[in-house]
Amino acid sequence: MLNLKKSAAAFAEAKTLMPGGVNSPVRSYANVGCNPPFIARAQGDKIYDIDGNEYIDYVGSWGPMVVGHAHPNVVRALQEAAARGTSYGAPTCVESDLAKLVMKVYPSIEVIRMVNSGTEATMSALRLARGYTGREKIVKFVGCYHGHSDSLLVHAGSGMATFGVPSSPGVTRGTAQDTISVPYNDVDAITKIMEEMGDEIAAVIVEPVAGNMGCVPPRQGYLRTLRRLTEQHGTLLIFDEVMCGFRASLGGAQAAYGITPDLTCLGKIIGGGLPVAAYGGRRDIMMKVSPAGPVYQAGTLSGNPLAMTAGLETLKIITAEPEPGEADYSRMLTLKTKKLLLGWQEKARKAGVAIQAHQAGSMFGIFFNEHEVWDYEDSCASDQEAFKVWFLSMLEQGIYLAPSQFETLFMSGAHSEEDIERTIDAAGNAFEQVA
Ligand code: PLP
Repeated sequence: MLNLKKSAAAFAEAKTLMPGGVNSPVRSYANVGCNPPFIARAQGDKIYDIDGNEYIDYVGSWGPMVVGHAHPNVVRALQEAAARGTSYGAPTCVESDLAKLVMKVYPSIEVIRMVNSGTEATMSALRLARGYTGREKIVKFVGCYHGHSDSLLVHAGSGMATFGVPSSPGVTRGTAQDTISVPYNDVDAITKIMEEMGDEIAAVIVEPVAGNMGCVPPRQGYLRTLRRLTEQHGTLLIFDEVMCGFRASLGGAQAAYGITPDLTCLGKIIGGGLPVAAYGGRRDIMMKVSPAGPVYQAGTLSGNPLAMTAGLETLKIITAEPEPGEADYSRMLTLKTKKLLLGWQEKARKAGVAIQAHQAGSMFGIFFNEHEVWDYEDSCASDQEAFKVWFLSMLEQGIYLAPSQFETLFMSGAHSEEDIERTIDAAGNAFEQVA
């Protein structure tokens, strides 16, 4: 039995200090019915709690830790940067260095603006889209998460295209009614909405590989349809690659599926574990951002030198030329992920448990579902009880996973073949518990 005594005491105290004891809801483990381990440190692919338990980590701080925790290059660069001062609120060369490296991998980004969170990136990209087009409505997809700004906290009902209904108290009806939600991966639904009111829509924003209803890649041709429809109506297409950037492939979903969006939002990996995100895209659109243009957006800590440094060092590692005969970083992650999922599928089959295993590069996840999962409705139809049993068994065996089937898991360069084998064996035991 996992000993989480100290974590339980720490959580009890935290609950008196913070809503639900956490600074971001999903960390509370509320839906799996156990106390969250409180983390003391992490190194490589391992994370350690204050009770002394060691876990193989597939959460990776929800995506950023693509090179593993406390990578020596990142730590060294951060120590050196910290000694030069932690924030100046003035331009630095490291901002341009990170910008150039991001733009090299994402040629659709001709001009970029660094911000501090994915929420800020998507919120600002939408303001820009509205400012650029002079239109007010936006389209998002049910089950896609773009951070917690008001106009994006809307997912409405699935099935038919619906006008926005706020999903959180505090989001006004006025704000929500400019957000139109349609089911993901449904060509007919988005075609209908664009035909009916495309000329009023400033932007269509999408997670081109959905990662917040579990990992759900786009159907073949779906992103191309979005591109065609938005072009026809003078609507901007925004790819929210905060999660799938550098993961669906090095160049994100846009490279993997060969679609060029007008604007892209990035986050997570580009901060290497520090708070960084960015939005960028076509020059003529981006030049509307203040002070080049009239669309206001600013940030005291935007482009912070420590955050830029962590991002830059991380990107240097994953964009490095491979040794002769070796796979590049992104391919290496994809292959490891594939191996893990094949192992899980085999173990599930042996245990007689129906699962759907999904992968997009180094993003992955499973659904306890006999049927294919293509949208939020399918994802919700998965067996949550089975997931809970499986999750708790994995935790018990030292495998640290996201505590919800609606989250995505992440592979890092630090995951060893041996740890992947261990994870496959652990999954086998966990599937036996479910069966
Ligand atoms: N967009 C996507 C696709 C995300 O997955 C997230 C967070 O997980 C966000 C935006 C919001 O990013 P942040 O949590 O940094 O505000």
